[in-house]
Amino acid sequence: MNNRRVLVTGGAGYIGSHTVVELIGAGYEVVIVDNFSNSDASSLEGIAKITGVTPTFIEADCCDKAALREVFERYDFSSVIHFAAYKAVGESVAMPTKYYHNNLLSFINVVELMKEYHRPNIVFSSSATVYGDAEELPVTERTPRKPATSPYGNTKQMAEDMLRDIVTVDDELYGIALRYFNPIGAHPSALIGELPRGIPNNLVPYITQTAAGVRECLSIFGDDYPTPDGSCLRDYIDIVDLARAHVVAIERMVAGKCEEHYEIFNIGTGSPVSVFELVKGFEAANNLTLNYKVAARRPGDVTAVWADTTRANEVLGWRAERKLDDTLRAAWAWECHVRNR
Ligand code: UDP
Repeated sequence: MNNRRVLVTGGAGYIGSHTVVELIGAGYEVVIVDNFSNSDASSLEGIAKITGVTPTFIEADCCDKAALREVFERYDFSSVIHFAAYKAVGESVAMPTKYYHNNLLSFINVVELMKEYHRPNIVFSSSATVYGDAEELPVTERTPRKPATSPYGNTKQMAEDMLRDIVTVDDELYGIALRYFNPIGAHPSALIGELPRGIPNNLVPYITQTAAGVRECLSIFGDDYPTPDGSCLRDYIDIVDLARAHVVAIERMVAGKCEEHYEIFNIGTGSPVSVFELVKGFEAANNLTLNYKVAARRPGDVTAVWADTTRANEVLGWRAERKLDDTLRAAWAWECHVRNR
């Protein structure tokens, strides 16, 4: 079995493409499966330009088990990183069936084929959304999860639970769930980054599009939260740091270092940053002024969530390294690249 080849589902997407770059940089061969449902071929060109390697690419939907089976038949790999999923919280509330169908079926197909073809390792893209409005801050991996407030969040919780149940009774299978906090930024080359379709839901793409003049004005959702400056607190993790965490997780698995069949790690910086701080930081890092206004709270937002990263630091041997102003410069460089191409 080839321990140096990794199947990356959703590898053309935002987190997937950055992870593919880091995997290639670490000496892995990568097979990407993506259906371009929220990405396009430009990310594959970006990967090739950055690394000098064109990864194997199969355009397929992970819900299509026959298509996925062909990938398992054709390529030998010991590990899978499963990114392929829908991720828009608001859309998931409006269209729950779409989310349950896609996110859960693709996950089950991947795991069933791993079992059938004796491919032991899977890294699953989970999210800090599983903590909801946490009772203790910062959150550790032992902080109880809260009932999901959206079908999207529920698919992350359900897939975590399925993964735990499946790998703990199987001698061969190992699963690592990485709970991402708020991934932001882009590759320093500005050749890959986030490509939101339509109006961005997330803060940083909204900021960069406002700075580029695509959006008129950023709305800051609430300045009356019980936080030092009244805006919400989050843990913004640089996308390249996040991508590196996947490589470290894969290294842990292929080296046979997992202590349990199912392991969870928080992937964040460990530092809370407010919306105002992020906006000011973006202005300062890029020497520009952003048009923004304070607006009403966004329904469903939690006041504050940030990571205790002790476990990722000590057990996984990973920590966030990039400075926030570099990350915000990279986010702006990427937006400029997108506007100019
Ligand atoms: N936010 C904002 N304006 C926007 C988008 C987001 O003020 O246009 C705030 C949002 O209320 C939250 C933070 O930015 O406090 C991060 O939001 P995002 O949607 O990026 O991530 P979340 O933590 O909600 O998953």
